Amino acid sequence: MNLNRRDFGRLAGSAALAQALHAAEARAESQTIGWCIVGLGRISMDHFMPALKMGKTGKVVALVSGHRDKAEKQAEMYGVSTKAIYSYEEYDRIAANKEIDAVYIALPNSMHAEYTIRAAKAGKHVLCEKPMATSIADAKAMIEACKTAGKKLMIAYRCQYEPVNLKAIELCRSGAIGTLQAIESGNGFNIRQGEWRLNRKLAGGGPLMDVGVYSLNACRYLTGEEPHDIKANASTIDKDGRFNEVEENLGWTMKFPSGVIASCNTTYGASMNGYIRVHGSKGVVMLDPGFGYQGIHLKAELPNHQSVDMPEDAKDPEQFAVMADYFADCIRNNKEPKTDGEEGLRDTVLMSEIYKAAGLPGL
Ligand code: NAD
Repeated sequence: MNLNRRDFGRLAGSAALAQALHAAEARAESQTIGWCIVGLGRISMDHFMPALKMGKTGKVVALVSGHRDKAEKQAEMYGVSTKAIYSYEEYDRIAANKEIDAVYIALPNSMHAEYTIRAAKAGKHVLCEKPMATSIADAKAMIEACKTAGKKLMIAYRCQYEPVNLKAIELCRSGAIGTLQAIESGNGFNIRQGEWRLNRKLAGGGPLMDVGVYSLNACRYLTGEEPHDIKANASTIDKDGRFNEVEENLGWTMKFPSGVIASCNTTYGASMNGYIRVHGSKGVVMLDPGFGYQGIHLKAELPNHQSVDMPEDAKDPEQFAVMADYFADCIRNNKEPKTDGEEGLRDTVLMSEIYKAAGLPGL
């Protein structure tokens, strides 16, 4: 509500004030973004949906799931009508549900394209989880479908909306640590047997697609540059059946136009709490951990013995609430999201190059 001091004085103590407040509340309610959640897995049930409850701009109004019983339980928790539960086969019926403004795609990677394109055709805005797609062609088709439908497409790169990462960007790009020279980053975990993430058809690749993409994206947003000249190596050490279809380890280097060289590792064979270090001629910026749902921590050493120590204040799922509120603002005010489809496409192209440089098929 935009009341200035004079308006407030004029209205204070009057019935007009009560009316104005009521109207503002009604306006806020009418601008609430209705979300359809596509895929009821860990990220949607444990993080994104609770985040919508925490935020002020959105609410869950529909669910898409292959498991009716699970969906009914979630529907009850979020006050969603059971009429707004759809199976994957019924998904296109979301077009007729006017309560739905946007969909959140939280499915295995290779399904992102199909469910984004169908959402756009149904006239809905799309927030799609990373990695955007498992092929360059799919990423381009997603962009095209949303453009044709006149709908927003945002890729859920939550770190690009997270204050500690944003502070790191400011330090790296402002010259606070001198001329950037080198970056090191790693992100990985020890994966369990049986995950769809080990199935090439669903995941599109191994740890690079899932968690290495955080390092790749961070190298780009911290420098503000696009890398070229990629070299890479992949290996599989554990012959226990988990890695029949995707790589276990992948390491790559990238050179940026300024000459910065980034060196990154990703793995499904070891716990590697995602981190990044940017070395400049006059200091260093470290995000360690850098990409978690909470507990991100920035430490920087600057010239003249100055330093920065900035732990993340927010607790999970606030990062998701910030991201959802940002997308709501893009929708309401017709702004292009910072992490739009083109941003996702750039990472898809680079991941394809990384795979090819490691002697594996591209995307
Ligand atoms: P998950 O396995 O917990 O959930 C996947 C959902 O997809 C489940 O509801 C499952 O039932 C459904 N599904 C539909 N068809 C399926 C099929 N053929 N095989 C397997 N599942 C199928 O996965 P998740 O961890 O929630 O990941 C979902 C997406 O979110 C992935 O793209 C992942 O990269 C992304 N993600 C993002 C973050 C982040 O921080 N932004 C974190 C984790 C996952």
